Amino acid sequence: NVANADLVIVGAGLFGLTIAQQVVEHNPTARVHIIDVRNHIGGNAYSYFDEQTGAEIHKYGAHLFHTSSKRVWDYVNRFTTFTNYVHRVYTTHNGEVFPLPINLGTINQFFHAAYTPAQAKALIEQQAGEYADVDPQNLNDQGIKLIGKPLYEAFIKNYTAKQWQTDPEQLPATIIRRLPVRFTYNNRYFKDTWEGLPIDGYTAWFQRMIDNPRIEVSLGVDFFDTSQPLNKAALVGKVPIVYTGPIDRYFGYSEGELKWRTVDFKEVRYAEDDHFGCPVMNYADADVPYTRAIEFKHFNPERADKQSHDNTVVWYEYSRFAGRDDDPYYPVNTDADKATYNKYKNLESAEPQVVFGGRLGQYAYFDMWATIDSALTAYEEQVAPLLKESLNA
Ligand code: FAD
Ligand code: UDP
Repeated sequence: NVANADLVIVGAGLFGLTIAQQVVEHNPTARVHIIDVRNHIGGNAYSYFDEQTGAEIHKYGAHLFHTSSKRVWDYVNRFTTFTNYVHRVYTTHNGEVFPLPINLGTINQFFHAAYTPAQAKALIEQQAGEYADVDPQNLNDQGIKLIGKPLYEAFIKNYTAKQWQTDPEQLPATIIRRLPVRFTYNNRYFKDTWEGLPIDGYTAWFQRMIDNPRIEVSLGVDFFDTSQPLNKAALVGKVPIVYTGPIDRYFGYSEGELKWRTVDFKEVRYAEDDHFGCPVMNYADADVPYTRAIEFKHFNPERADKQSHDNTVVWYEYSRFAGRDDDPYYPVNTDADKATYNKYKNLESAEPQVVFGGRLGQYAYFDMWATIDSALTAYEEQVAPLLKESLNA
């Protein structure tokens, strides 16, 4: 076949890289060809080092690794060690800065009170009103149930409106269940067992995953561009394929478009050592057009002696609906989207030589650990049998 490989992977993101790594590890002669339309590996988790400040910039938005899966933690530690970074986020509301996720510190600051955990719980339950007894099916009900109406309106309602521009009653409750709510002063953003950042950056980690002569990578190659040889029409049916691009794009949008949010990043450089005093500042209010700002150098305090102390770089995030030519980042996942996705799922059975995976291929709000976890499973359950069949053919 034109790919000169036993398996073609479309997309060099974490899903594709994990599959490639597993294929060469478990099949002593198999060769893999990865293509990506971008000019780098790593997908949305790609990062690079900023010349002026020495900060590691996460090109597609801040990426913090966290997991409670022992299988995934052991796997990723084969390719990188992690710093002891612990993610903490603050939010600005009405000209005042509060700690996130919502915790006893947030609650007491907001109500100018000194509640104990039990008192705060009783208050929130009362403020959840009729939602206290509801089994929440959407972001609105789940949010109010978790933290009561006043805190929901202050910290969630407007941020969510900016981030999704979708009625919160149409959004899945899982979006808000990502965040812990704590009746202690613990303001760790994640609730996972393990977290940290790759010691020498994301891209070095990813390169080590595919450091094998039987893995070939072709960058700047679009699977749907028929003017280049590694395209869909030339490959499907001739060689097993793992496709990690948008599922609706694969099927020519025949069942309609799935809705995605994208983010525009506005970079601002400040001639000071420290602009925010923390890595991430969220903006809870409607009159601020961006959702949050990232000051990258704070992700790697252990690199302080390699970073500038005269300058710092900040990215402001502006969320909007993605058009076909934008990077799809967040699946909106309303009921209508779920119905559309299910139609595409049904079409997949007509493509037995293609495995669909990853955040885009499965239309799923996967964190990195979940992407890796699903790739390890997809390798075992789908890719290995497909490969065995074609290697024996
Ligand atoms: P991707 O990384 O999107 O990779 C897919 C690849 O396919 C891309 O490189 C793309 O160029 C390529 N491709 C698509 N179409 C084609 C085509 N036609 N031809 C060739 N190549 C193609 N996770 C965390 O754990 N922690 C975080 O803090 C975190 N923050 C995030 C912040 C943002 C803004 C976003 C968008 C995601 C975040 N994530 C985070 C999730 C993380 O990015 C994903 O879990 C992971 O990158 C998904 O990997 P993937 O391989 O499925 O997809
Ligand atoms: N959220 C919010 N206010 C905040 C932070 C988060 O309303 O200050 C809501 C919002 O709907 C967001 C969701 O919680 O989309 C998940 O937040 P997270 O920080 O996990 O989002 P991500 O990092 O994936 O963009």
